[in-house]
Amino acid sequence: MNGLTSLTEGPAGVAVAYTDGTENTVDLVVGADGVRSKVRPYVLGAELPSC
Ligand SMILES: Cc1cc2nc3c(=O)[nH]c(=O)nc-3n(C[C@H](O)[C@H](O)[C@H](O)COP(=O)(O)OP(=O)(O)OC[C@H]3O[C@@H](n4cnc5c(N)ncnc54)[C@H](O)[C@@H]3O)c2cc1C
Repeated sequence: MNGLTSLTEGPAGVAVAYTDGTENTVDLVVGADGVRSKVRPYVLGAELPSC
């Protein structure tokens, strides 16, 4: 799997970096990456959800 490693929001969109070293810039990111989501901290901060 070519996993997500980072998201960086900028004026041209969101720069998305992947584990294979590639990057692209997109208009919209949908976080559907499960309980260990890499997207969640960018939206809600580093704190983990409580159960
Ligand atoms: C053993 C077990 C049994 C369960 N049984 C039930 C049940 O009977 N009923 C029920 O309602 N729920 C059940 N659940 C809970 C259910 O599986 C989860 O609530 C549900 O799968 C969450 O869906 P999701 O789409 O948020 O995440 P997920 O189904 O976890 O999907 C996340 C996806 O994102 C991908 N991903 C993760 N990180 C990255 C990354 N960095 N880059 C790219 N892709 C990434 C993953 O490969 C995966 O394909 C069970 C869970 C487990 C572990």
